[in-house]
Amino acid sequence: MRRRRLKIKPLREKHGEDTMDVRSKGFATHTTVETSLNKLLDKIEVKDEKEVVVLLDAVNRVLAEDIVSERNVPHFNRAAMDGYAVRAEDTFGASPDSPLLLKVTDKIEIGEKRQARIEKGEAVRIATGAAMPEGSNAVVMIEYTIRLNDMVEIYRAVTPAENVSLTGEDVKIGEKILEKGTILQPQDIGMLAALGRTSVEVFKKPVVAVLSTGDELVNPEKRPESGEIVDVNRFSVISALKLLGCDVIDCGICRDDKQKIEEKVIKELKNADMLIVSGGTSVGERDLLPEIIKKLGEIVVHGVAIKPGMPVALAVVSSKPVILLPGFPVAALVAFYNFVPPILEKMLNACIWQKYYVKARASKRIPSREGIRTFTRVIIKKTVEGYIAEPIRTSGSGILSSMVKAHGFAIIPEDSEGVEEGDEIDVLILRSMGCFHA
Ligand code: AMP
Ligand code: MG
Repeated sequence: MRRRRLKIKPLREKHGEDTMDVRSKGFATHTTVETSLNKLLDKIEVKDEKEVVVLLDAVNRVLAEDIVSERNVPHFNRAAMDGYAVRAEDTFGASPDSPLLLKVTDKIEIGEKRQARIEKGEAVRIATGAAMPEGSNAVVMIEYTIRLNDMVEIYRAVTPAENVSLTGEDVKIGEKILEKGTILQPQDIGMLAALGRTSVEVFKKPVVAVLSTGDELVNPEKRPESGEIVDVNRFSVISALKLLGCDVIDCGICRDDKQKIEEKVIKELKNADMLIVSGGTSVGERDLLPEIIKKLGEIVVHGVAIKPGMPVALAVVSSKPVILLPGFPVAALVAFYNFVPPILEKMLNACIWQKYYVKARASKRIPSREGIRTFTRVIIKKTVEGYIAEPIRTSGSGILSSMVKAHGFAIIPEDSEGVEEGDEIDVLILRSMGCFHA
């Protein structure tokens, strides 16, 4: 990776200039991703709203309580193998050449509540999962025994606790097993069930309103005429929010009309914790959003050093975050992933995005501009030497098919001017890399 020392701050990163009128000046300055995010995060309040949900509604929700076990799991000593429950010491010395004889006094099936017991020199036939008889401490596997009426020949010695799941082996009373802030996965739900929980306290889902703006936009059901564009962003952004576990308000499309957009923003923010607007954030005549939002609240940053996605603006209106995404669909999603998950995480004080990266080597030179964090759509291939990231050729920020084909974004950091073939890069994975994962 070709790295240079930056002589200037990334594209003149300055504070106090973010609310400048970009329509007259253009994007002469960009703020770095980190600075932009931190400036907004400083203004976000943690929402501490919880609710109780039944266990089967809890997957992918964010746990709002520490889970401390009130039980041992298992709560009794269980046979881990089919065979004979014994006192280990009664088997010492047993071998194929000199088997030992024990008296079989009982048989315990799985699910039986009765507790059997054994004395010195005795054995109890036992099934996997059944409760160990009182006095026994090990199981001789059936394979190492021969039954002779009410006696059993033991061909192998066992040590105490061998082939036994001991009480509390999985979870002990008082053990903290899940931490507040965890995104509940299927295995966590199973564990909660094992601990006897039928419901669990989770953080309320953030409610995010999503609005598209643009005179040219139409809904997908309409075949677009010349000059019309199907609204893509509302669908991709709402879907991304659903994956992040949000409740979404679909605010539809608003024309490029100052008053209408202003009314819509005020109305939708009343019911939402966050508003995401796409389109109209750049420097064109119809890019009305920054001006409207500035009137209603505060634009914290406008113009971030990312590519694509540079015209994104981060704002606060009525103490709620308002994110203005650029109109081009890929730019909208890149800006979304850079800012929306961390803001939601601050609001919830928890992690909500299961983010996966792989390290891969660039299949060829990937250009980028110094000072700009560049997100290049790549296909990942697995080779014997590791992962290779192959940039997708068509890369305009309006070419959504490039993102559909890509496995993720190679992230070229600000302090490098492109990467060379063979350089190692981080790739943010956005979709399964398919069956090449052996
Ligand atoms: P804007 O950011 O409004 O200047 O839009 C930049 C480009 O993105 C224009 O070509 C728009 O037609 C397009 N665009 C804006 N909003 C959307 C949207 N919701 N879905 C698809 N394309 C859009
Ligand atoms: Mg527009």
